[in-house]
Amino acid sequence: MKIGLRIDVDTFRGTRLGVPNLCRLLAEHATRATFFFSVGPDNMGRHLRRLLRPAFLWKMLRTKASSLYGWDILLRGTLWPGPIIGKRLSHVIRAAADDGHEVGLHAWDHHAWQAHIDTMDADTVHQSLNRGVELLTKVLGCPPVCSAVPGWKCNDLVLREKARFAFCYNSDCRGDRIFLPVAGGKELSQPQIPVTLPTYDEVVGRHGVSNDSYNEHMLGLLDPGRLNVLTIHAEVEGMVCLDMFTRFVESVLSKGHSFVPLGTLVEESAQIDRAAMAPGEICGREGWVACQVPL
Ligand SMILES: [Zn+2]
Repeated sequence: MKIGLRIDVDTFRGTRLGVPNLCRLLAEHATRATFFFSVGPDNMGRHLRRLLRPAFLWKMLRTKASSLYGWDILLRGTLWPGPIIGKRLSHVIRAAADDGHEVGLHAWDHHAWQAHIDTMDADTVHQSLNRGVELLTKVLGCPPVCSAVPGWKCNDLVLREKARFAFCYNSDCRGDRIFLPVAGGKELSQPQIPVTLPTYDEVVGRHGVSNDSYNEHMLGLLDPGRLNVLTIHAEVEGMVCLDMFTRFVESVLSKGHSFVPLGTLVEESAQIDRAAMAPGEICGREGWVACQVPL
C-alpha cells in the first residue's frame, strides 16, 4: 500500500523547527513526501480573534493549542507584524527540496486565506497565488509543481485561477479518489488529489481517541483497496507529536507499506474521472471545507 504523505507548513515556527525535524525523520527511513509551504507573512496570531467564538475556543482547549503551537505563534501578527517566512527561512525550504521532497505552495498568507476566502474576488485570489508562486520560484530556482489551499478552503473561482499557473496537480479538498475538477461546467486539466484521512486535531479528543491510541486508530483507517492520502502539520507531527509520528512511520513501514509524494499517486493512476467540489462539513473541524462530489 502506498500512502500519499502531505506535510502542511503553516507558520514561521513550524518551518524553522518542524520541517527540519520531519526531513531528518524521513531521511532516516529513505522516505519522500510533499511539503506545502506558507511563504508570506506569518499572521497566525490573528486567530486570537476567533477565540471569541465558542466552537473555536472549545477546539483550542480540546487540542491544547497553546502547547501545540506555542503562545508566540498564537500571538504572532496580533502584537507585531509577522515575518515573511519564505525570505527568512528560504534555506529550510531549499533543504527540503534538496532532500528529494516534492515542494508545493500552501499559501502566501495562511491566515488571510482562511479568514477571507469567502469574499475574495478573482484578482485577489490570483494575486495571493502569484505572490506565493513568485517567492517559491525564487527560493527553489524553479516554479512549485503543485499547490494546496489552507484549510481546504477552495471553490470554483480558486480552481479557475489555479489553472493559470503551471501546477501539475492540486490538493484542495477532502474526498476519496483522484479526479479532474469541473468548475463552471468546464473540465480543468490539473488533477485534484483529495485528502482521504482525518488530521490529528480532528481526531484526538473525540470518540475516546487519545495520544495513546492515536496511531492505532490511524493505522486502522488505512485501506489497501482505496486511495490513502494523509495530511500532517509541521507544527504538530513535526514538533510536539514528533515521537508519536515517528512510531507511526515505523509501524507503517514495518507492515510493508510505504509513503510517497502525492505526485507519485497521479503518475500511477490509470484512469482519472471527473468530479466537482462543493462545501461540506468534516467531523472535528470548524466551518466548511471543500469536498469532492459526484457530477
Ligand atoms: Zn495549513
